[in-house]
Amino acid sequence: MVNAVFETLKAKNQLPSPKGLALKIIQLTLKEDVTTREIAHALKTDPALSGRLIKMANVLMSYQTRPIVSIADAVMSLGLSIVRNMVLGLSLVEGGRDGACQKFDYQNFWSQSLLTAIAAKNFVEGRSMGATEEIFILGLLSQVGSLGLATAYPQEYSHILEKARAVDSGTSLIDLERTEFGLDHNQLTKEMLADWGLPQSFQLAVLHHENPALSDLTEGNRHWHILNILHIANYLSKTCLSHGQQRHEMVPKLIRTAARLGLEVDVFTELCDRTVQEWREWSKLFGIRSTEIPLFKEMLQNAPPSELETLDDGVPEISLGASYALRILVVEDDYATTSVLKRLLTKAGHAVATAENGVEAVSMLDKFIPQLIITDWHMPKMNGIEFCKALRSNELWRNVTVFVMMNQESSDRIEEIFEVGASDYLIKPVNSKALGARLFAIQRMVQLQDERELDYKQLRVVAAQLAASNQRLQQMALTDVLTSLPNRRHANDHLEQQWAMAERSGRPFSCMMVDVDFFKKVNDTYGHKVGDDVLKQVAQILRVSARKQDMVCRFGGEEFLVICPDAQTDQIYQYAERLRLNVAAKVIHLDTKVTVSIGVASKSPALLNAEMLLQLADKRLYKAKEIGRNCTVWN
Ligand code: GH3
Ligand code: MG
Ligand code: MG
Ligand code: MG
Repeated sequence: MVNAVFETLKAKNQLPSPKGLALKIIQLTLKEDVTTREIAHALKTDPALSGRLIKMANVLMSYQTRPIVSIADAVMSLGLSIVRNMVLGLSLVEGGRDGACQKFDYQNFWSQSLLTAIAAKNFVEGRSMGATEEIFILGLLSQVGSLGLATAYPQEYSHILEKARAVDSGTSLIDLERTEFGLDHNQLTKEMLADWGLPQSFQLAVLHHENPALSDLTEGNRHWHILNILHIANYLSKTCLSHGQQRHEMVPKLIRTAARLGLEVDVFTELCDRTVQEWREWSKLFGIRSTEIPLFKEMLQNAPPSELETLDDGVPEISLGASYALRILVVEDDYATTSVLKRLLTKAGHAVATAENGVEAVSMLDKFIPQLIITDWHMPKMNGIEFCKALRSNELWRNVTVFVMMNQESSDRIEEIFEVGASDYLIKPVNSKALGARLFAIQRMVQLQDERELDYKQLRVVAAQLAASNQRLQQMALTDVLTSLPNRRHANDHLEQQWAMAERSGRPFSCMMVDVDFFKKVNDTYGHKVGDDVLKQVAQILRVSARKQDMVCRFGGEEFLVICPDAQTDQIYQYAERLRLNVAAKVIHLDTKVTVSIGVASKSPALLNAEMLLQLADKRLYKAKEIGRNCTVWN
């Protein structure tokens, strides 16, 4: 359809086209055996065109030290196809200065096209993206379809332009053009460039340069770059040629679009100002009007970085596969780049914090606890390399994933970032697909880490519970259930321990064997339950009556052992008697009195070990039973 409309227009000779000499040159260059001399010879017949061509060649080739002085020179230096395209451009400008379409501003059209051309040329310079001279022609002709529509349909197009400019028209120019003519100005531009034999990448670029999001070019490849450079060049020229508040509103988007191409704010601002200045000079060459435009440095001051935050432009969404939100710290000194990354990552569902340099980033670590850090290499105060070093020398941040961003030029020093412990790198401008793929891997890693961490946490809880219950079990193993006193095993351990200490220190050491008198009778008379109750009471009384440092243990059925370190031999009898009397006085039991007999033994050179001490105490206890019970025997 589009092609059919174009063919009809072309057949009717209704489109702008090179005429006269320019046409001849273009036809000549299509001949396979054409020589430089032939071209030069033909051009000489139009001194005005040759003069402009030489001037143009000199400006475009300004990086060359030797000036171009002749047409032959220009063809030699620039090559046939570029000279041909220059002739094409020059002749179109020449032939398109005015026309019959009333609402089409021919002067403004070329003014803007020229600005786009210079901007595109400047943006590719030094980016190894192809000849800047070629990009210049692309920029110059990138809107030629509009001129085509104005030329072919002067009245109708005038009407449509008026309609589209009406504030509340609601219909875009593109839609109006398609409805009216069967093709829009970008489609027509593409057909015209194809017809003139310009490269396919140019044709693709002009088709979508007003809205690159519509193209399906792969991000980061050469065609994609040309498309986006043309887009931003076009947007810059629109910004420049708009006025007041409208221009002010366009600046933030311009900055961020540039950042997506890897042009940082400072560099980009300078490029814009240089472009405007060159535009004024070129305007004279082309005989086109130009206007005063404030410096971008000043315009930026009126468009603070915060305005970028609220901007919703065509930043693509990263596809994530499985979504697992990360905490990502972006460290970057260029605020436009930060803004693009932040928008990209936030859109993908991540939590993003930003810092302007390594120093600021370090101060944010403990609060934000990033799971991924994306840092620029070149930054003031602390650059990416130093920041990486700082992270890796810190126990807490030794393992965090760090991506270092770098521009193409730094990429041959890539080993430097790995030497300081970076996990991976990203080339600026950051390709959203490359970033998305890396994020996917990091998400899986962090998710696994988190799950493992959770397992560990649960394990730690179980371990703590186990430790507590072990302690309880141990306690139980050493404690008598009925009286809650240390049991026999515990008593034996403690006795051995205290014996050994007394042995080392030479300090006194004693023990008492306490046995309830006629306990069998209690059981027999009142039953086992009352017997138990009596045992508990005896245990309790012994415990509260004993000295703090002494241990009262249940040694057997109704037998208790009191282990008394540091008890002086001459005082131990009194002590035992106190216990005996307390029991006799305090055990509350129906009618019979409950008493105990006690055998006391103290450490002496004749006793060789704890066992002998115990035997002696036992022997004296029997003696106490023999002499009538309810008494203490100590020698
Ligand atoms: P003696 O004055 O000679 O010590 O006389 P006794 O009756 O106290 O001594 P004997 O060794 O003949 O009896 C001890 C009794 O203690 C036998 C046993 O049934 C009882 N006994 C041992 N352990 C417990 C216990 O845990 N609860 C109860 N109710 N009785 C117990
Ligand atoms: Mg930087
Ligand atoms: Mg007894
Ligand atoms: Mg007994």
